[in-house]
Amino acid sequence: MLCPRDGTPLVSPADSGKSVFSRNGIFHCPTCAGLALNSNAASSKICSEKLESMHDGFKDEGTKTEICCPFCDSDMKVRDFAFRKIDGSLTELIEIDGCTKCSSFWFDSGELQRLSPPIEGRHENSKSEARALAVVLDLLFHLPYVML
Ligand SMILES: [Zn+2]
Ligand SMILES: [Zn+2]
Repeated sequence: MLCPRDGTPLVSPADSGKSVFSRNGIFHCPTCAGLALNSNAASSKICSEKLESMHDGFKDEGTKTEICCPFCDSDMKVRDFAFRKIDGSLTELIEIDGCTKCSSFWFDSGELQRLSPPIEGRHENSKSEARALAVVLDLLFHLPYVML
């Protein structure tokens, strides 16, 4: 499987060495830090059900993109999502690419970083990036989403 943005071979959940990735069946790109998710690869039922329901929003709606699904090579579309936080407010909008055929999604690293809270007193490095992604994945899998 190749990164839809830059063609780098994606690292599989089993080889990532990060439990948050293997637990959720997430493939990642070592070049651009984008993430690929597929409902069949997700190990938790909650997670795969959420991905299935998100997929419904890509069948008839969304804007065409130039990227292809890393799982099945079909066209992908892009939509804006927000997540509802515990206090009822919405997160910033992020763009998520979804496959029109299978329940797969592509998350650009930059989009995910916008959702993650800033880590105080530290410069950007790979550790803080990994932690930011873990935070964002918690948002993705535990908070209700709103499609816009
Ligand atoms: Zn990439
Ligand atoms: Zn697909």
